[in-house]
Amino acid sequence: MSDTRTIGSRAWGAAPWHGGQLRAAESIPSRADVVIVGGGLTGCSAAYHLSRLGIRPVLLEADVVASGASGRTGGIVLEGSAVGPLDRADTCVPGLARLVEREQIECDLRLPGCWEIEHGDGGARRLPWIDEGKPVYITGHVPGGTVEPSLLTLGIANAALRAGSIICEHARVTHIDCRDHLIVELADSQIRTEWVIVAANAWIKALVDGMRTASSLTFACATEVLNKKVVEALGLQEGIPFYTVDLPYLWGRVISEGRVIFGSGLLFDSSKRLEEIGLKTRSFALAIDTLTRRVRALHPALANISFSHAWAGPIAFTEDHMPILTCAPNQRRMLVAGAYSGHGVAMSVRAGELLALAVARNDPLPEWGAFSR
Ligand SMILES: Cc1cc2nc3c(=O)[nH]c(=O)nc-3n(C[C@H](O)[C@H](O)[C@H](O)COP(=O)(O)OP(=O)(O)OC[C@H]3O[C@@H](n4cnc5c(N)ncnc54)[C@H](O)[C@@H]3O)c2cc1C
Repeated sequence: MSDTRTIGSRAWGAAPWHGGQLRAAESIPSRADVVIVGGGLTGCSAAYHLSRLGIRPVLLEADVVASGASGRTGGIVLEGSAVGPLDRADTCVPGLARLVEREQIECDLRLPGCWEIEHGDGGARRLPWIDEGKPVYITGHVPGGTVEPSLLTLGIANAALRAGSIICEHARVTHIDCRDHLIVELADSQIRTEWVIVAANAWIKALVDGMRTASSLTFACATEVLNKKVVEALGLQEGIPFYTVDLPYLWGRVISEGRVIFGSGLLFDSSKRLEEIGLKTRSFALAIDTLTRRVRALHPALANISFSHAWAGPIAFTEDHMPILTCAPNQRRMLVAGAYSGHGVAMSVRAGELLALAVARNDPLPEWGAFSR
């Protein structure tokens, strides 16, 4: 797919992803069996799996599909969760690969694994970098790989549309009333529904009371196109993505046109204020400046490069980094998923499937996802 569409209206800079086409619905229905709030990987996967199970959900996205973390992520595909593999979330990568294959989604999914790297004195192989004054070693090679994340998200959204889902963009949910019936409220309309799935990730707290999640922006940059010799000099010619298992945190990967993406940094704020922090704020500029300086200092071949993209995206955490996948307090028919702690590309697609199975087949949600901890 060669076309691009602007991925949302938020002032967080542009990621180097290509977007894609989506035919969203023109009007919002007044009734639904299931309303899904959020058009990222979790919500689109839930819509897709529900539709395949014979239920026609209505997905509401405040901005456009893939305008949150899912269209701004680094697209490193990892198994399990930020705390490791979990019951029923231990084969997320093969599940994602099957979905991509089944729906013929062109999203450049490659699964050569991922390096765990560490600052310090030793490991199987040294990378030719000095990061924050320290050498860097590859200390592990875990299952996973890379994907073009906005093409993946839009690909799943389009598959959901084909299977019968209704997707409405520019449809911000302002409140979910759970007193007598489930009513999902928007600025000038409302939907009465049997079930609600809140897949709003960094914005969950604004919609569901009692959530103990923290939201932050995290940062990334993409280099100019580097020639093969430079990519080789950096030790990245195999196209294997990487992330540090110690601090200071750094992740990265090569993307198809020969740019290298690096990411690091967190800027915490309340989920309600995330959208006010943008390119023009000092803290945003400082975070990007810190990251690009760090990248230029990694290797002499990077010392004078320019950056084609610098951007941020929202992530959500729980205190113990365990993802949330559960019912809202005292509301069995309102399900919530998110807070993957920056480890959510494959996990969110699996979470969407588990949510769909809970609604359509009454399957229990896994115990680890409860948020009463
Ligand atoms: C810069 C960055 C790099 C990352 N890198 C990686 C990585 O390499 N590997 C990895 O595994 N994970 C990574 N992650 C994390 C991963 O991208 C996320 O865990 C995943 O995309 C979460 O998907 P989601 O659908 O739950 O959330 P999102 O994609 O954020 O979707 C939530 C959606 O809800 C919408 N919404 C919010 N409030 C409302 C409302 N009131 N009404 C309607 N819609 C609403 C938002 O607009 C948004 O589109 C990264 C994240 C970021 C930001």
